Amino acid sequence: MNSMQPKTWSMAGGIQLAANKQQSLQGPIRTALLPPQLIVPVTQPDYSQPQLCVQVGERVQKGQPLVCVLSAQGLAAHAPAAGIVTAITTHAVPTASGLPELCVVIDTDAADTSWHKLPPLDYMQSDIDTVIQRVAESGISGLGGAGFPAHQKLRSSLGKVDTLILNAAECEPYLTADEALLRERAMDVLDGCLILLRITGASRCLIGIEDNKPQALAALRSHAGDPRLHIRVIPAKYPSGADRLLIHALTGTAIPASTLPIDCGVLCHNVGTVFAIARAVLHGEPLLSRITTITGAAVQQPANYEALIGTPIRELLLQSAVDTTRLSQLVCGGPMMGTALANADLPVTRTANCIIAATEPELPLPQPAQACIRCGFCAEVCPVQLLPQQLYWFARNREHARALAHNLADCIECGACAHVCPSHIPLVQYYRATKAEIAEANDKQQRAHHWKLRFDAHQQRKAVEKVAEEQRRAERAVLASQKQQSGTAATLSARDAVAAALARVQAKKAAGDKLASGSVASSNVADDNKDSRS
Ligand code: SF4
Ligand code: SF4
Repeated sequence: MNSMQPKTWSMAGGIQLAANKQQSLQGPIRTALLPPQLIVPVTQPDYSQPQLCVQVGERVQKGQPLVCVLSAQGLAAHAPAAGIVTAITTHAVPTASGLPELCVVIDTDAADTSWHKLPPLDYMQSDIDTVIQRVAESGISGLGGAGFPAHQKLRSSLGKVDTLILNAAECEPYLTADEALLRERAMDVLDGCLILLRITGASRCLIGIEDNKPQALAALRSHAGDPRLHIRVIPAKYPSGADRLLIHALTGTAIPASTLPIDCGVLCHNVGTVFAIARAVLHGEPLLSRITTITGAAVQQPANYEALIGTPIRELLLQSAVDTTRLSQLVCGGPMMGTALANADLPVTRTANCIIAATEPELPLPQPAQACIRCGFCAEVCPVQLLPQQLYWFARNREHARALAHNLADCIECGACAHVCPSHIPLVQYYRATKAEIAEANDKQQRAHHWKLRFDAHQQRKAVEKVAEEQRRAERAVLASQKQQSGTAATLSARDAVAAALARVQAKKAAGDKLASGSVASSNVADDNKDSRS
């Protein structure tokens, strides 16, 4: 073992749960039948309105783009099968928010098998940007839960990542989509790892897989020939597949809630996402389908299906011979962190990894909560080593600051604490509600701060304008005074000029008069002389 390797690949806390995985692993992955209608979600990750490149009534090919992606944050979507676009409308989708999303509805045409593919890409000879662009135009987002666009994650990891992690832990009960994929298509998944190593420049890829998946492990071992691929077997324990816990277990790096794994030099991807990246790069196939586990005691033939995105869940349940008389609850995801579905008319989305059609005894309704007996069981199982009981009291009393001081933000909402609580306290609901309240308060505070900054800037601008106006006014006054003074001076000098001219005229006149009077006198003398002579 070298110094880079942690001493153990296990994690603190966690719980052992009944796996319930074997039911859906009895046979190979089935290709789901083409449904008569597909409901393809096209909502963008930031919930902005997508720019669609199809219209109602238009015929589409399998793989044809439905969304024109214009921004780096955008997520492409494609027609999963050929057919006619019959509606573009909002439709309920299986998400935690339960909010409807914009969907393109396609009436499928089984006879049309044309495929709108891109040419395969030689990722070793292509520049990094071209490979990321291929991932972007293939509409791949995280298939493990969060659904973050894969190309965005890759772009933000450039130059920052030394370790790539393939999350093959799939720790929640019932879920077997990733395990089935690894059993049958491990080579494609590992090709995807090599593509990601090339893109990110990471020096190694750690593959984290639980010890209860021997066939998947064997398939990985038989294909992982590249020396940069390292398989790490971890004990099967819930929630070992949570990204941050797995990273901690495999690398020894604890990633705080406020930091992204990328900022700690680690990029973590789910098995399904890496498989989709390999198909997009090596085969030019956009993301049109995913592996979804259909299981639960209310279906008679649990299995993994390769289902087209947009396939109504009802269609998959029918193919698994659902017994609606026994069906009590439909859950999308696992029993610990999944979302209860209102009905089966919702479509398969990129993140719909499992549908549990549960009977009442299988997933009983929660029992009424009792008072906390301070047994401490919750603290023993918390994988993040929090104090769930303390957090519960702070949450109940709305003591947000104390909850934060006790690291509520680090809670991954795994539900292990609530699962072991003998008082049946819905601890996670308390934590979620408190986090939402804190987020709202922060949001309000940020908005108030924003408006205060705007108000201060406005006041400052007004003060500056006032000073400038006063300055302008003073300058105008000085100019007016100068003008007045120069006007007076001009008037005075004009008057002086007139006076001088008049004086000159008078002087001239005076001189003329004097001369004239002198001539007259001379003439009179001459006349007098002339008279005397005569
Ligand atoms: S497990 Fe339940 S009862 Fe026991 S300390 Fe935690 S919250 Fe209280
Ligand atoms: S839900 Fe939160 S507090 Fe409870 S065990 Fe999981 S991480 Fe710990």
